Amino acid sequence: MNDSKLNRRTFFTLGAAALAGTALSSTGLKGGNNRTFGRSQMGLYRFALGDVGVTVFSDGHFHLSDITPEDMDAAATQGVNIDAETRDEYFRTRLLHEGDFRLPVSPVLIESGDRTVLVDSGWSVAPVSPHTGHLASGLEMAGVSTENIDVVVLTHAHPDHLGGLVDPRTEDPVFPNAEVVISETEYGFWTGDQAAPVLQAFDVLKGIPKILHSMDDRIRLVRDGDEVIGGVRTLATPGHTPGHICVGVEADGRELLLTGDAITTIHLSFERPGWHNLFDLDPEKGAETRKRLLDRAVVDEMLIVGYHFPFPGIGYALEFEEAYRWHAAGLTALP
Ligand SMILES: [Zn+2]
Repeated sequence: MNDSKLNRRTFFTLGAAALAGTALSSTGLKGGNNRTFGRSQMGLYRFALGDVGVTVFSDGHFHLSDITPEDMDAAATQGVNIDAETRDEYFRTRLLHEGDFRLPVSPVLIESGDRTVLVDSGWSVAPVSPHTGHLASGLEMAGVSTENIDVVVLTHAHPDHLGGLVDPRTEDPVFPNAEVVISETEYGFWTGDQAAPVLQAFDVLKGIPKILHSMDDRIRLVRDGDEVIGGVRTLATPGHTPGHICVGVEADGRELLLTGDAITTIHLSFERPGWHNLFDLDPEKGAETRKRLLDRAVVDEMLIVGYHFPFPGIGYALEFEEAYRWHAAGLTALP
C-alpha cells in the first residue's frame, strides 16, 4: 500500500473488505474465549481524502468504570460540577443506565505521498487491558508494517494513546523507525516535577515518564500549528492535559480533525460540553477548549474522527439547542 498511489476506489474497496474481515478474523483475538470475542471490536475502516489515505483502526475498547477511582461512581466522573440528580437524569435518558459506557480506542493512520503517520498508538500491544491491543493485527490486515511507519504523533501522553509505543513484555519499541511527535508542553509536563501528584494519584499513569524517556533519541517536540508532514498540522487544545494537541489534515479542499481527547464522547462532549470531566487535568480549560473546537468544527464543516467514538467514529459536529450534536457519517456518505 505504501508504494502505490492511493486512489479513492482502492480505499473504498479495502474499507469494505476490512469491515467484512472484522467478523472473519475472530481467531486472531487474544484471549480467545467467546466472552472476549463478543465484547471486543476489531477491524479497520479506510477512506481517501483527495490523495491522502486515512485508515481508522480499532485497537479495542475499555470501560469508563475501568479507570474510575474506587470511591466514585463512573457517572460522577463525567460532571463533577453538576448535581447528581441532573447527571443521573442525563444518563437515564440516554439509556446509559449503569452510568458507565464503553470507550473505543481508535488510532488513525495517514498515508500521504511516501509518508506514513500514525496518530496515537492504542493502549498496548500486550493485553494489559483485556479488550485492547488489536492495532497490530489491524495494521497487518491493512498490509502496513510497523517498521514502515515514519511518524507517530501523540495527541497526549495518557496510556490509552501512548501505551502502544512499547511492548511491555520485551520493552522493545513497536515502531522502531518512527519519529515520535509530541507537544513540548506535554513532554515537559510528564517528565517534570509538576506531574508527580498526578502520577501518584492514578496508578494507571505511572509508566508514562519511562515510556517517554525510552523514546528520547527520536522525539520531536512541537508547538501549536507546527507541520507534522505536509498537509498535517498540530492544533493546541489544552485542558484534558496541559499539552494536548489535535491533529488537522488538509486535503482536497477539506479539513479532517483527529480529536484525541479534546472531544471524548459522542454524547456528553457534544451535548454538555461545559460539564467538567474528572479526567481533564484542568476541567475549566477542558470545557473551554471543547466549545472552541466544536464551534470551529461546525463553522468549517470539518470531518471528524473521534478517538473514543463508536468505531469508526467518523462524522460531523452540528449545532443543536444550546450546544452541539454528533452527526455520524453513514458509511456510504463519506468523502
Ligand atoms: Zn483517551
